[in-house]
Amino acid sequence: MGRLLKWAGKRPLARVAGLSLMATGLGACATIADNGDELTRIEAVLGKHIAELSGPDYGGRMPGTPGGAATQDYIVAALESYGFKPGMRGQWRQDVTVPTKRYRELLVDVPEGADSIASANVIGVLPGTIADSGAVVLLAHWDHLGTCGPPAAPDRLCNGAVDNASGVAVMLEIARRIAEHGPLERDLYVVATTAEEAGLVGAEAFADDPPVPLPIIVAAFNLDSVAIAPRGAPVAVIGWGRTGLDAGIVEVVRAQGRRLSNTQQQARWIARQDGYALLKRDVPSVLVSSAFADERRLGQFVDKNYHRATDDWSAAIELGGAAQDMLLQIALLRHFGNTASYPVGDD
Ligand SMILES: [Zn+2]
Repeated sequence: MGRLLKWAGKRPLARVAGLSLMATGLGACATIADNGDELTRIEAVLGKHIAELSGPDYGGRMPGTPGGAATQDYIVAALESYGFKPGMRGQWRQDVTVPTKRYRELLVDVPEGADSIASANVIGVLPGTIADSGAVVLLAHWDHLGTCGPPAAPDRLCNGAVDNASGVAVMLEIARRIAEHGPLERDLYVVATTAEEAGLVGAEAFADDPPVPLPIIVAAFNLDSVAIAPRGAPVAVIGWGRTGLDAGIVEVVRAQGRRLSNTQQQARWIARQDGYALLKRDVPSVLVSSAFADERRLGQFVDKNYHRATDDWSAAIELGGAAQDMLLQIALLRHFGNTASYPVGDD
């Protein structure tokens, strides 16, 4: 996730009236008991991706480095193996020029004298079964900070396990599962953005020059720093009240046996995540996540590991909420990616 003003550490503001919705029918606990083995399997898959992408071969996934290139290659190879097609006018990559100024402010090593770095978004598409019925978009930033922190620090390799190898892991597993069960009616674009850490640079580049006109996109979902909350956690919607997606999200969240917990505090994140590049251009774009609903654990992460060398892979990283969110995101993409459940225009 993007740089944020120092986490205030304050208690959440009072819950916004009417926005805390308890699921009816299926209780969260019953659901967990029913699919606990499945969630354990998902956690293992996510952990494998995260361990790989935050491992030594990727060097902290800095744009313009061999580790950054290796990260792009990993994502392309995964999407290709799942049956996705290149999503940027026949190419897997969308070139992005990244200014270095922000990195210097963040104490990130960049080549001396370089004003910019060449990098790329990775874009794949799973074409839908109904032509011209629109597109749904899934975003996660692949980049992190490479070598960062005070020059004298003993460990300066900022691996970015939670931020955002975890989001990429969830994105890839969603892509794999949706492709395996057959495409949606609408096109599904999977967009792994570069240089989110430099200020949503890759997401802005995507929004400036998208592979399909922005009005074609009926819904976009961003995934960032998802490995925070345990199983059974509620979910927050960053972008709540800003799109026409809320009613559908409520329906899907309830059907998944989850519950929503939106607070004013969470809205502070809205401009600090990639989805904002689309939202500010009037594309319905939200971040639906248990991590952002768990303000205590998110605050602990921000205080201890956020943008530090300590954001490393460990088997102790909490993946319970991420696994459930992965299933929820698939349900959301199915809801908004099919014309009967989410008709728009002439559908
Ligand atoms: Zn970040």
